[in-house]
Formats: sequence, C-alpha cells, structure tokens
Amino acid sequence: MNIDRIVKKFQESHPDEDTTVLYLAYDFANEAHTGQLRKTGEPYIQHALHTAFILAEIKADLPTVIAGLLHDVPEDTDRTNKDVQKNFGEEVANLVAGITKLGKIKYRGIERYRENLKRMFLAMTTDIRVIFIKFCDRLHNLRTLEGLPPAKQKRIAQETLEIYAPIAGMLGIWRLKWQLEDLCFKCLYPKKFQELEQEYEIEKKAERNQYFQKIKTELIPRLKEIDLKYNIEVRFKHLYSIFQKMQRKDRKFDEIYDVFALRVVVPDINSCYKVLGIIHTLWKPKPNRFKDYIAVPKPNGYRSLHTTIFGPESKAVEFQIRTQEMNDESLYGLAAHWYYKSKNQNGQQPLWVKEIIDIQKEVSDTNELIKNIKLNIFNDRIFVFSPKGDAFELTEHSTPIDFAYAIHTNIGNQATGAIINDRLGKLDQELKNGDLVEIITDKGRQYPNRDWLKFVKTKRARDRIKQFARKGPLENIKRFLPGIKPKK
Ligand code: MN
Repeated sequence: MNIDRIVKKFQESHPDEDTTVLYLAYDFANEAHTGQLRKTGEPYIQHALHTAFILAEIKADLPTVIAGLLHDVPEDTDRTNKDVQKNFGEEVANLVAGITKLGKIKYRGIERYRENLKRMFLAMTTDIRVIFIKFCDRLHNLRTLEGLPPAKQKRIAQETLEIYAPIAGMLGIWRLKWQLEDLCFKCLYPKKFQELEQEYEIEKKAERNQYFQKIKTELIPRLKEIDLKYNIEVRFKHLYSIFQKMQRKDRKFDEIYDVFALRVVVPDINSCYKVLGIIHTLWKPKPNRFKDYIAVPKPNGYRSLHTTIFGPESKAVEFQIRTQEMNDESLYGLAAHWYYKSKNQNGQQPLWVKEIIDIQKEVSDTNELIKNIKLNIFNDRIFVFSPKGDAFELTEHSTPIDFAYAIHTNIGNQATGAIINDRLGKLDQELKNGDLVEIITDKGRQYPNRDWLKFVKTKRARDRIKQFARKGPLENIKRFLPGIKPKK
C-alpha cells in the first residue's frame, strides 16, 4: 500500500478537495513509526496506510482519512497528540485522541466486554467518525492476524464478532460488517469456513453464474425498451450469514433460497417502480415478499424495493431495486449518510443515534446502559400508524399499550381498548409493521394497570407505567400488597 493509492481512492468520492495534507500526514506518520515493525514483519506504517485506505473506500471525509493515517502515532511513538494538533489542527487531533482512548482496555471477560461497549457508545456519541476509524483499524488487524499467537487471534476474533460487527450493523455499514464477520468466522471455525467456502464459492459458482445470465437475458431487453440507465449486480450472501442461518433454522444449504439476490441500480426513484413493474410482469412474485422500504424506510434509514419472484426453473430469486444514493447508503451506512449530507445538506441524524445519547444521559450504570441499548437499538423496529396517518416507530412485538404511550402519556394511562386495522383488538396483542391503530380511552381513568408491565416492549411504556402506578391512590397499592390497609 502507498499514499498515492489512498489519495486516488479519496479523490473518487471527493474530487474537489485539496489532498496535499494527506501527503503531509503520511510523512508525519512515516517518520514517527520509523524502524517499527508489525508482528507480521511488515513496516508499521503499512497498517496506518491500510486503515486510511479502507476509510477512503467507505467515502470518509478528509479529517477522518488523515486521522486514519495518524491513529497509532500518540499511542505507539514519541509524538504526542499535541504534536498532531500543532500540525493538523484540532479536528484531526480530537479524532486521534478518540481512537487512543478506545485503545487500551485492561479488563478481562465480561468486564472487558462491558467496558469495551461503553467506550464505543461514548465515542459514538461524541464523534461517530472515531468509530469508523476504529472499525477500519480492526479490519486491517483481522486481515493480518497470522502474526499473533493463536489464543490472541481467537480473542480478537471473538471480541470483534460480539462487539464490533453488531455495532457496524447498527450503523448500517454492511460492507464492513460482512468483512469483519467472515474474517472472524474463518479464525474461529476454520473447518466450517472451509467447507462452506468450497461448497458455496467454488463448486456452485459456475452454476450460479449461468442462472443469473438467464435472468439477465430476459430482463435487459425490457429495460432497454424503456431506455433506462441501469446497473445490475449479483449479490451473494457472505459465508458467516449463511452459517448463522443454517444454524438457526437447522436447514441445509440448498434450501436457503435467499443465498443470492440481484440488485438493480437505477438513476431515480420513479425508475425503481418502473423496474419493479417490469420484473413482476416477467415473473410471478412470491406472495408476501414484496417490501417497499422506499415509501417506509427501515428505522436505520435503509431504503430499497425488495421482491422475490419465481424465476426460470421456478427458482426463487430476490430482487433489490434502488438508486445509487440508496445503494451507497446501504453499503456504507452512516459513513455514506455523512457523505451525502455534506453534499446536499438535507441529511439528518438517525433516530437511534439520538436515542443512544438520551439513554446515556439517563443511565450512568454500565450494565443498565447496555441492557437498555440492547433492548432499544439492537431489536428490529416496526412502524405503526395513527388514524391521522402519523407514523410511530416501535420495538418489534410492541402492543397497543406501547403505541398509546408513544403517542402521549395520558393516552397510555387512559387506554381501555384498541382498534387495529378497523377491527377491535386486544391491548396485549402484538402489532405488525404497517398496522393502523386507534386507541380507545376512558377519560375518567388516571392510572395505568400494573399488569401491563407483563407484556409491554418499549422502555417508554415500561417507565411510564411504573411511574404512574406508583403515584396511584392507596387503593391501587393495596391491590398489590394485600394486608396493608390504606390510611384515611
Ligand atoms: Mn491501529
């Protein structure tokens, strides 16, 4: 790796930026790391260069790529963060300081896990770019694991799988998540990895490519008919996710039909729907597999049209249809979000980033913090609509009570029934994505029912029920503590 390749990669996404400073940062880092070798025997500067290159690949901005080059300088050389600041300014110095802070964790076992997660979340809420650098740093370390003793290799892989990969997924940086996971998979389960690689990437490759060729020869003439600019790519599932799926569902490789998908990238949203129409007239769609994530994006911001059709030989094939911007966002997640935001100024912080900040303000205990973040962020979300058409984002498996509290505390406290998609529903019933829900209230009621705690799923509903049930009249308390008589 060399600095010219990084500059070239960076210019692909940022053609107008002055890149002189990248050369300066390289010289600075190179000098600082002079004489240092990695465990693999390579000069240390190679690690800094690779980290910066991966950052440029995910379209990170200039200060982030510079910080990538400098990320190990204060920790491992005699130059300090002050020196970095003097030469490259405060923004870069803060990013590098963030990485240094994440660096040394001395705990063991579960404590290490907790401390690690906590620091990640803290860094994330101060400057999310610190996390991008950390991921790229980790990715290159995983690629060069062989220099380390086997026990240490396994520890790093395990930690990556438990902490780094889920957070990369949460941030929507799928490209990094997949790479991290497959490298860890290979290190932790070498036999399984080789088996799958042999079966999936070597033996089936020709067969698979032939099949996609068939689909393309039917589809492309139709796209040309309407004079559409398009780009079709075959998307393969990465090995670790196949492995996980096989374990979860206890199914054989062949039966996992969504092992591959075709992705069609077109210039604008209108064209997405046009392509969908063409696909559905060419092949029969599989019922209940069409998802319009353009009209209703996933909570992490993911947008795309998904449909599964019965293609040639009646095989099920998934199509993902999206614009270039959506495609970048789905691969680079928040990193792309950053990129497009700086380009057209209309991006906004995803809801869950705000939520982490809120949770962090509320909870100082690390265990609670992790529990809350896991409950609230790692779970999938659903959107439920009010009769007025307002969308509310809820945790998966939420109930009408969760919905009621999401609207307003009073609506929650006074809820007595729910109408779900025009039919009378139950208060503990599980809501589905897209449900239209109306809450029936009893204005005379002031306090929630403590039994609701048994089924609510959102933190907000749980907190409110606890809070108001506690404040309830003594009669209310009496119900839970039989034998205690309320004072007059
Ligand atoms: Mn490093």
